[in-house]
Amino acid sequence: MNSDVRQLTNHELLRSACLIGGEWVVGRGEDWIEVLNPSTGGTITTVPRLGALEAEQAIEHAVTAGKKWSRVPATERSALLRRWFELVRAHEEDLAILLTLEQGKPLAEARAEIRYAASYIEWFAEEGPRCYGDVIPSADPHTRQIVIRQPVGVCAAITPWNFPSGMVTRKVAPALAAGCSIIVKPAEQTPLSALALAFLAERAGIPAGVLQVITGPSRAIGAVLTSSQDVRKLSFTGSTEVGRLLAAQCAPSLKKLSLELGGNAPFIVFKDADLERALDGVMQSKFRNAGQTCVCTNRILVQREIHDEFASLLAARVQDLRVGDGFSDGVEQGPLIDKAAHDRVQSLVDDAVAHGASVLCGGEPHSASPLCYSPTVLAQVSSGARIARDEIFGPVAALYAFSDEREAIELANSTEYGLAGYVYTRSLARAWRVSEALECGMIGINAGLISSASVPFGGIKQSGYGREGSRYGLDDYTELKYLCMSALDSEL
Ligand code: NAP
Repeated sequence: MNSDVRQLTNHELLRSACLIGGEWVVGRGEDWIEVLNPSTGGTITTVPRLGALEAEQAIEHAVTAGKKWSRVPATERSALLRRWFELVRAHEEDLAILLTLEQGKPLAEARAEIRYAASYIEWFAEEGPRCYGDVIPSADPHTRQIVIRQPVGVCAAITPWNFPSGMVTRKVAPALAAGCSIIVKPAEQTPLSALALAFLAERAGIPAGVLQVITGPSRAIGAVLTSSQDVRKLSFTGSTEVGRLLAAQCAPSLKKLSLELGGNAPFIVFKDADLERALDGVMQSKFRNAGQTCVCTNRILVQREIHDEFASLLAARVQDLRVGDGFSDGVEQGPLIDKAAHDRVQSLVDDAVAHGASVLCGGEPHSASPLCYSPTVLAQVSSGARIARDEIFGPVAALYAFSDEREAIELANSTEYGLAGYVYTRSLARAWRVSEALECGMIGINAGLISSASVPFGGIKQSGYGREGSRYGLDDYTELKYLCMSALDSEL
């Protein structure tokens, strides 16, 4: 057993089996996936390598359980979700330990993610009973037009490794609140958080088959989930490339789809901005989770007059970041998820330097462990460099200079992505103009941390479609049904 696993208070949370139809299963028990700790390279545990057969079984259970669940009154579903929320909060420390173990982020960030994940359960526990319909005035006095909302049916969720808890509850909680059953396929690197959450959901009394978690090869399991006529909705968070592929796979069965995909967030700093606040914003939006968030600042656009001053102030802060194992005291940045991610970040930095960028700090692997990368600031980056187009997904702040508002907007929008954007200025008028002009689903105005359960999270362009969280978050898990009641005069 890995020594860090011994930190767990409740060892039942470390699951090495999948939850299918209310049973914890390992398939034939012959094929396993090793779950690695990215900080040490050591094996934490194994989870089963299930496949198409078990995915089909999970769908059958989800159909049966989902029918019953959809008839449970919304207030009762709400009470069960509330109980689940309370259990997640009660086990916050253990869930955070599991998260840091499998994902690498500092323990303080892992705790914050567990609270963030729990907040979606709480939010949708409360939102479910408010899933209202409408009465629409009719032109015919003897007719009434009514709209009701009903659960979509069986849902599938495919989630990424960067927020192994948050991305699960953001999909599962609205599905359950709306009366849908759901099957989750977590990322191969980080299945333990999803399994632990499912264990607590079971303890909370969520009925068998309503929430299931399956681990195994994503292609085989994904092919079953996307092609099944019984699965009525897929919610995917991950790369744009895989999102496009899954959308194509879902097309023949015309599934409802939510796609939360990649980003290339611009962070615009005008010369009238409060620079200290803007620096805080970059630190929050760029270096959280070692730069591995979809809303991470990817391009820092700084008005030319203040570019050099801003760059050196930022470098002074960035070079102080403490890098290492997420369990070590004071560590602010953990490792990248794997070697491929580490190599990709280095190649983006090398290409930027080849295009004329100057390295103010970092720019190389960090000595703390093989997957750690030095927090990096690159100044005067050319918009022709690859780093301007690609999602960095690493702790590299790339600064570009611009002359005026028009150029800032043009540069900011010159990307296929449209997830988040950030604007720093003291001018209210400019904040409005720029926010309206940016082609993004979410904008931080003098704010670097913008996501919470109460607001709609999602993007446009190649960042996908659909919204998670907020009162809009239930929409993706419900269908509108229109009832036309006519002949009200028939008994006159
Ligand atoms: P990824 O490679 O697209 O993987 C995401 C999930 O898709 C994983 O569970 C993966 O499973 C699965 N998957 C991969 N290929 C598949 C296939 N052919 N069929 C079915 N499932 C498949 O992305 P990632 O590298 O894990 O995550 C990083 C990306 O997610 C970034 O682009 C980031 O911006 C994006 N992201 C977006 C948001 C948002 O809300 N917009 C939030 C977080 C992350 P395996 O790992 O088991 O192969």
